[in-house]
Order: sequence, then C-alpha cells, then structure tokens
Amino acid sequence: MTSAALRMHAHRLGWLASMLALFCSTAAQAWGPAAHRIVAQLAEGQLQADARVKVRQLLTLSDARHLSDVANWADDLREDPDQREFARATARLHYVNFADSACRFEADRICANGQCVVAAIDHYAAILADSSRPLAERAEALRFVVHFVGDVHQPLHAGYRPDRGGNQYQVRIDGKGSNLHSVWDSRVTASARLGWSRHAERLARMAPLADASEDPVAWARQSCRLTRDAGIYPDSRNIDSAYLERMRPIAERQMRLAGKRLANVLNRALD
Ligand SMILES: [Zn+2]
Repeated sequence: MTSAALRMHAHRLGWLASMLALFCSTAAQAWGPAAHRIVAQLAEGQLQADARVKVRQLLTLSDARHLSDVANWADDLREDPDQREFARATARLHYVNFADSACRFEADRICANGQCVVAAIDHYAAILADSSRPLAERAEALRFVVHFVGDVHQPLHAGYRPDRGGNQYQVRIDGKGSNLHSVWDSRVTASARLGWSRHAERLARMAPLADASEDPVAWARQSCRLTRDAGIYPDSRNIDSAYLERMRPIAERQMRLAGKRLANVLNRALD
C-alpha cells in the first residue's frame, strides 16, 4: 500500500473503532432503542382523540411525527457534543437504585432532590399538563416522559443490587464478554428476531393487560421485585439462548405495561 492508502486505511479503522466504542457505550447505558420505540408505539395506539391531537402538535416542535421518533432522544443527548452538559445533568433521571431486596421506595434515601426516574416522570408529566408553559418546554417534557416511562420498566433500571443496574455484572454471550444490563437492553428484545415495528404490532395484538396502576413508585417497585424474583440474574454467567427465550416474555410484558401506562399518563396530562 502507498502511504496515502495506508493513512486512509488507518483513518477508516479509527472511524470504525470510534463507531464501535459509541455503539458499545450506548448499549451499556440504555434500555435499547428498539424497546423504547416499541413502548412509544404501543402508547400511541392507546391515546384518546384529544391527547392524540395535542401529542401531534407537540411532536411537530421536535420535528417528529410519532412518539417512537422521540423515544430515544433522552439517551441520544449523550452523543451530541452540544448537549453533553445537559445529558450529564439529567443522567440520574434514567433510573433508581433501591437500597435492598425489600424494594421499599424511601424517597429521601434513594431519590433525594427528585433525582431519580420516578420523580422525573411526575415532574415532566406535570410540565406537559401545564398549558400555561411555553410549547417548547412542554415538547421537551413529552420527549422525557416517553423515554423515562420506558426506562422504569427495564427491570435493571430499578434494581437493588450494588452493581450499577447490572452494568458491573459481567457475563459472556456468544463467546464474548458483556454485562447483564447490556444483555437486557438489547439482546433479550432482539431475540424475537423482528424489527421493532413488527415487534410492536405483535405485542399490540395481544389481549389487553389488566392493570390500573398509575403510580411510578409502584412501577419501579415492580421492576425491583422482578430483579429479585424473576431469574433475571442468571445461575450461570454464560448467557445462552435458553436464558433469552425465558426472559423475553418478561421483557415483552414490561413493554406492554409501559405502553399502556405511558398512554394513561399522556391521556391524563393532555385531556
Ligand atoms: Zn434512558
């Protein structure tokens, strides 16, 4: 190779490496993009007429048409150099760490100053509902609510073990090192082998869930208990397809609950 070609090659490799690093860092921090889109799509299908119109208006301010278009915005902020500060300031709003396996919500201890996903949902839902606020602010609140209702239903976003939501719980999958949080963010949902939109359609066709829970505290506690009781922490550090198959119905039920509860939040805020 000529030196120019070598430089080009090195440049491409560097680019590839940085894209990979980007992909891995996002994958390790977030209920995956597909799951967030699925939740948003499920919610959109359950909006009442009034709320639907108002959601559309607010989405226009975000250059979007569907809730699924903005469902990952709160995570994507991290990759935008102009928004890094804002991403850092809101990082604690994506999760809540319970103190122990009793999964008690002691706000002073685990959500001081409203710095957790439970308080964030209430905070932004209130802004969304306040028609005296500027539209841009309410549009931003909508983007946050859509994302955080998804997050609180990813069990590892509301667990109690001191392992940063499974980020420090090392596992192997397909012969490679990974961590439990990352497996839950993407691999469990992806094991359905459908695109997010077809996956959402399939879940939307299932019989409605009997659920009347309107309290984000209860949603977080439910996630916490799942991390304790549902076999989410595997017996073996080797994640196999049997584990993914076993976990997928749990993840799907969480996405359906999240979709329904998100729709309720939006219907209440925008009726
Ligand atoms: Zn998040």
